[in-house]
Amino acid sequence: MIVVENLHRHFGGFHAVDGASLTIETGSITGLIGPNGAGKTTLFNVIAGRLPPTSGRVTMAGEDISGLPPHVLFHKGLLRTFQIAHEFGSMTVRENLMMVPPGQSGETLWNTWFGRKRIAGEERALRAKADEVLEFLTISHLADQKASQISGGQKKLVELGRTMMVDAKIVFLDEVGAGVNRTLLNTIGDAILRLNRERGYTFCVIEHDMDFIARLCNPVIVMAEGKVLAQGTVDEVKNDERVIEAYLGT
Ligand code: ADP
Repeated sequence: MIVVENLHRHFGGFHAVDGASLTIETGSITGLIGPNGAGKTTLFNVIAGRLPPTSGRVTMAGEDISGLPPHVLFHKGLLRTFQIAHEFGSMTVRENLMMVPPGQSGETLWNTWFGRKRIAGEERALRAKADEVLEFLTISHLADQKASQISGGQKKLVELGRTMMVDAKIVFLDEVGAGVNRTLLNTIGDAILRLNRERGYTFCVIEHDMDFIARLCNPVIVMAEGKVLAQGTVDEVKNDERVIEAYLGT
Protein backbone atom coordinates (compact mmCIF):
# COMPACT_ATOMS: atom_id res chain seq x y z
CA MET A 1 0.00 0.00 0.00
CA ILE A 2 2.77 2.43 1.00
CA VAL A 3 6.30 2.44 -0.34
CA VAL A 4 8.84 4.82 1.16
CA GLU A 5 12.00 5.22 -0.89
CA ASN A 6 15.21 6.75 0.41
CA LEU A 7 13.35 9.33 2.47
CA HIS A 8 15.21 12.18 4.12
CA ARG A 9 13.93 14.83 6.49
CA HIS A 10 16.51 17.22 7.80
CA PHE A 11 16.15 19.93 10.45
CA GLY A 12 19.01 22.29 9.69
CA GLY A 13 22.04 20.04 9.67
CA PHE A 14 20.30 17.29 11.67
CA HIS A 15 19.10 14.26 9.72
CA ALA A 16 16.04 13.07 11.68
CA VAL A 17 15.09 10.72 8.82
CA ASP A 18 18.21 9.77 6.96
CA GLY A 19 17.50 7.64 3.91
CA ALA A 20 14.69 5.42 5.21
CA SER A 21 13.16 2.89 2.82
CA LEU A 22 10.28 0.63 3.77
CA THR A 23 7.08 -0.97 2.55
CA ILE A 24 3.73 -1.23 4.32
CA GLU A 25 1.84 -4.15 2.80
CA THR A 26 -1.89 -3.88 2.14
CA GLY A 27 -3.82 -5.61 4.91
CA SER A 28 -0.94 -5.64 7.37
CA ILE A 29 -0.64 -4.22 10.85
CA THR A 30 2.91 -2.99 10.61
CA GLY A 31 4.70 -1.99 13.80
CA LEU A 32 7.29 0.78 13.83
CA ILE A 33 9.67 0.59 16.76
CA GLY A 34 13.06 1.94 17.70
CA PRO A 35 14.80 3.88 20.44
CA ASN A 36 13.79 7.45 21.27
CA GLY A 37 14.97 9.90 18.66
CA ALA A 38 15.12 7.21 15.94
CA GLY A 39 12.97 9.33 13.63
CA LYS A 40 9.69 7.38 13.84
CA THR A 41 7.44 10.38 14.52
CA THR A 42 9.20 12.46 11.88
CA LEU A 43 8.69 9.64 9.37
CA PHE A 44 4.98 9.55 10.27
CA ASN A 45 4.76 13.31 9.90
CA VAL A 46 6.30 13.17 6.44
CA ILE A 47 4.12 10.27 5.21
CA ALA A 48 0.95 11.84 6.62
CA GLY A 49 1.68 15.25 5.05
CA ARG A 50 2.45 17.22 8.20
CA LEU A 51 6.06 17.83 7.09
CA PRO A 52 7.43 17.94 3.55
CA PRO A 53 10.30 15.54 2.88
CA THR A 54 13.75 16.98 2.29
CA SER A 55 14.15 14.35 -0.42
CA GLY A 56 12.93 10.89 -1.33
CA ARG A 57 9.57 9.50 -2.33
CA VAL A 58 6.40 8.11 -0.78
CA THR A 59 3.90 6.26 -2.96
CA MET A 60 0.44 4.95 -2.10
CA ALA A 61 -0.82 2.14 -4.33
CA GLY A 62 1.74 3.28 -6.90
CA GLU A 63 0.79 6.96 -6.84
CA ASP A 64 3.36 9.51 -5.75
CA ILE A 65 1.98 11.18 -2.62
CA SER A 66 5.22 12.81 -1.40
CA GLY A 67 4.55 16.14 0.25
CA LEU A 68 0.77 16.12 -0.28
CA PRO A 69 -1.09 17.93 2.52
CA PRO A 70 -3.13 15.98 5.12
CA HIS A 71 -6.56 16.92 3.71
CA VAL A 72 -5.64 15.56 0.27
CA LEU A 73 -4.31 12.36 1.84
CA PHE A 74 -7.48 12.15 3.93
CA HIS A 75 -9.55 11.96 0.74
CA LYS A 76 -7.31 9.17 -0.51
CA GLY A 77 -8.02 7.19 2.67
CA LEU A 78 -4.69 7.83 4.40
CA LEU A 79 -5.38 8.96 7.95
CA ARG A 80 -3.32 9.69 10.96
CA THR A 81 -5.15 9.66 14.25
CA PHE A 82 -5.01 13.04 15.89
CA GLN A 83 -5.75 14.02 19.43
CA ILE A 84 -9.07 15.57 20.20
CA ALA A 85 -8.29 19.27 20.14
CA HIS A 86 -8.82 21.21 23.30
CA GLU A 87 -11.61 23.29 21.75
CA PHE A 88 -13.68 20.17 21.01
CA GLY A 89 -13.53 18.96 24.59
CA SER A 90 -16.83 20.60 25.43
CA MET A 91 -18.56 18.65 22.66
CA THR A 92 -19.85 15.17 23.30
CA VAL A 93 -18.09 12.05 22.06
CA ARG A 94 -20.85 11.53 19.48
CA GLU A 95 -20.53 15.11 18.26
CA ASN A 96 -16.79 14.68 17.90
CA LEU A 97 -17.42 11.74 15.59
CA MET A 98 -20.15 13.54 13.65
CA MET A 99 -17.78 16.38 12.84
CA VAL A 100 -15.38 14.24 10.86
CA PRO A 101 -16.79 13.82 7.35
CA PRO A 102 -15.80 16.76 5.19
CA GLY A 103 -17.87 18.49 2.54
CA GLN A 104 -21.22 18.34 4.29
CA SER A 105 -23.82 20.39 2.53
CA GLY A 106 -24.35 22.52 5.64
CA GLU A 107 -21.11 24.27 4.79
CA THR A 108 -22.45 26.61 2.12
CA LEU A 109 -24.86 29.47 2.56
CA TRP A 110 -26.89 28.22 -0.39
CA ASN A 111 -27.53 24.97 1.37
CA THR A 112 -28.28 26.68 4.62
CA TRP A 113 -31.13 28.50 2.91
CA PHE A 114 -32.44 25.91 0.52
CA GLY A 115 -31.31 22.56 1.77
CA ARG A 116 -32.60 22.36 5.31
CA LYS A 117 -34.36 19.11 4.70
CA ARG A 118 -31.35 17.51 3.16
CA ILE A 119 -29.13 18.71 6.00
CA ALA A 120 -31.49 17.21 8.55
CA GLY A 121 -31.38 13.92 6.65
CA GLU A 122 -27.59 13.97 6.53
CA GLU A 123 -27.41 14.76 10.21
CA ARG A 124 -29.58 11.78 11.02
CA ALA A 125 -27.40 9.54 8.86
CA LEU A 126 -24.24 10.89 10.50
CA ARG A 127 -25.66 10.35 13.94
CA ALA A 128 -26.61 6.78 13.07
CA LYS A 129 -23.13 6.18 11.72
CA ALA A 130 -21.51 7.66 14.83
CA ASP A 131 -23.63 5.41 17.03
CA GLU A 132 -22.69 2.39 14.95
CA VAL A 133 -18.99 3.29 15.34
CA LEU A 134 -19.37 3.67 19.11
CA GLU A 135 -21.06 0.30 19.29
CA PHE A 136 -18.28 -1.33 17.26
CA LEU A 137 -15.74 0.10 19.69
CA THR A 138 -17.84 -1.00 22.69
CA ILE A 139 -18.10 2.58 24.01
CA SER A 140 -21.76 3.37 23.33
CA HIS A 141 -22.07 4.40 26.97
CA LEU A 142 -19.74 7.36 26.29
CA ALA A 143 -21.83 8.86 23.47
CA ASP A 144 -23.24 11.77 25.47
CA GLN A 145 -20.22 12.44 27.65
CA LYS A 146 -18.10 15.49 27.03
CA ALA A 147 -14.86 14.57 25.26
CA SER A 148 -12.84 16.42 27.90
CA GLN A 149 -14.23 14.14 30.61
CA ILE A 150 -13.26 10.73 29.26
CA SER A 151 -9.97 8.97 30.06
CA GLY A 152 -6.84 8.99 27.89
CA GLY A 153 -7.46 5.44 26.70
CA GLN A 154 -11.09 6.17 25.89
CA LYS A 155 -9.92 9.19 23.89
CA LYS A 156 -7.69 6.87 21.88
CA LEU A 157 -10.74 4.75 21.05
CA VAL A 158 -12.63 7.86 19.95
CA GLU A 159 -9.64 8.85 17.78
CA LEU A 160 -9.83 5.41 16.20
CA GLY A 161 -13.57 5.91 15.84
CA ARG A 162 -13.04 9.08 13.87
CA THR A 163 -11.18 7.11 11.21
CA MET A 164 -14.28 4.92 10.88
CA MET A 165 -16.48 7.88 9.97
CA VAL A 166 -14.77 8.01 6.58
CA ASP A 167 -13.48 5.32 4.25
CA ALA A 168 -10.01 4.84 5.63
CA LYS A 169 -7.61 2.55 3.83
CA ILE A 170 -4.54 3.04 5.96
CA VAL A 171 -4.35 4.46 9.45
CA PHE A 172 -1.21 5.70 11.17
CA LEU A 173 -1.37 5.35 14.94
CA ASP A 174 1.10 7.13 17.16
CA GLU A 175 1.78 5.69 20.62
CA VAL A 176 -1.63 4.32 21.44
CA GLY A 177 -0.39 2.78 24.65
CA ALA A 178 1.11 5.83 26.33
CA GLY A 179 -0.53 6.26 29.72
CA VAL A 180 -3.33 3.79 28.98
CA ASN A 181 -4.22 1.04 31.45
CA ARG A 182 -3.86 -2.59 30.43
CA THR A 183 -7.60 -3.35 30.15
CA LEU A 184 -8.23 -0.40 27.89
CA LEU A 185 -5.09 -1.16 25.90
CA ASN A 186 -6.52 -4.62 25.23
CA THR A 187 -9.80 -3.06 24.08
CA ILE A 188 -7.86 -0.77 21.73
CA GLY A 189 -5.89 -3.80 20.47
CA ASP A 190 -9.14 -5.70 19.86
CA ALA A 191 -10.56 -2.76 17.92
CA ILE A 192 -7.45 -2.54 15.74
CA LEU A 193 -7.55 -6.28 15.01
CA ARG A 194 -11.25 -6.19 14.15
CA LEU A 195 -10.85 -3.13 11.92
CA ASN A 196 -8.04 -4.96 10.17
CA ARG A 197 -9.89 -8.26 9.75
CA GLU A 198 -13.47 -7.12 9.29
CA ARG A 199 -13.02 -3.79 7.52
CA GLY A 200 -9.78 -4.35 5.68
CA TYR A 201 -7.87 -1.52 7.34
CA THR A 202 -4.11 -1.44 6.95
CA PHE A 203 -2.32 -0.05 10.00
CA CYS A 204 1.07 1.36 10.79
CA VAL A 205 1.60 1.63 14.53
CA ILE A 206 4.32 3.36 16.56
CA GLU A 207 4.34 1.82 20.01
CA HIS A 208 6.78 1.22 22.84
CA ASP A 209 4.77 -1.51 24.57
CA MET A 210 6.31 -4.68 23.17
CA ASP A 211 3.46 -6.92 24.37
CA PHE A 212 1.05 -4.76 22.41
CA ILE A 213 3.32 -4.87 19.34
CA ALA A 214 3.78 -8.65 19.67
CA ARG A 215 0.03 -9.21 19.87
CA LEU A 216 -0.86 -7.07 16.86
CA CYS A 217 1.99 -6.47 14.49
CA ASN A 218 3.53 -8.41 11.67
CA PRO A 219 5.91 -7.30 10.40
CA VAL A 220 7.80 -5.01 12.73
CA ILE A 221 10.12 -2.40 11.28
CA VAL A 222 12.94 -1.17 13.49
CA MET A 223 14.34 2.33 13.01
CA ALA A 224 17.51 3.78 14.47
CA GLU A 225 19.26 7.02 13.65
CA GLY A 226 16.85 7.89 10.88
CA LYS A 227 17.29 4.63 9.01
CA VAL A 228 15.54 1.26 8.86
CA LEU A 229 17.70 -1.12 10.79
CA ALA A 230 15.75 -4.36 10.57
CA GLN A 231 12.40 -5.83 9.62
CA GLY A 232 10.73 -9.11 10.54
CA THR A 233 8.47 -10.74 13.08
CA VAL A 234 8.74 -9.54 16.69
CA ASP A 235 10.81 -12.62 17.57
CA GLU A 236 13.15 -12.06 14.66
CA VAL A 237 13.85 -8.41 15.42
CA LYS A 238 14.08 -9.03 19.17
CA ASN A 239 16.96 -11.39 18.60
CA ASP A 240 18.68 -9.26 15.98
CA GLU A 241 22.04 -8.11 17.33
CA ARG A 242 21.93 -4.76 15.54
CA VAL A 243 18.55 -4.08 17.16
CA ILE A 244 19.79 -5.01 20.64
CA GLU A 245 22.81 -2.77 20.14
CA ALA A 246 20.67 0.16 18.98
CA TYR A 247 18.48 -0.07 22.09
CA LEU A 248 21.42 -0.51 24.42
CA GLY A 249 23.18 2.47 22.87
CA THR A 250 20.49 4.89 24.04
P1 ADP B 1 11.13 9.19 17.59
O1 ADP B 1 9.69 9.37 17.25
O2 ADP B 1 11.70 7.93 17.01
O3 ADP B 1 11.42 9.29 19.05
P2 ADP B 1 11.47 11.76 16.35
O4 ADP B 1 11.09 11.64 14.94
O5 ADP B 1 10.50 12.38 17.28
O6 ADP B 1 11.97 10.36 16.90
O7 ADP B 1 12.79 12.63 16.46
C1 ADP B 1 13.97 12.31 15.74
C2 ADP B 1 14.98 13.40 16.01
O8 ADP B 1 14.60 14.57 15.27
C3 ADP B 1 15.08 13.81 17.46
O9 ADP B 1 16.44 13.96 17.80
C4 ADP B 1 14.37 15.13 17.52
O10 ADP B 1 14.93 15.98 18.49
C5 ADP B 1 14.57 15.69 16.11
N1 ADP B 1 13.46 16.55 15.70
C6 ADP B 1 12.17 16.16 15.53
N2 ADP B 1 11.40 17.18 15.13
C7 ADP B 1 12.24 18.27 15.06
C8 ADP B 1 12.07 19.66 14.70
N3 ADP B 1 10.86 20.12 14.36
N4 ADP B 1 13.15 20.46 14.74
C9 ADP B 1 14.35 19.98 15.09
N5 ADP B 1 14.61 18.68 15.42
C10 ADP B 1 13.55 17.84 15.41
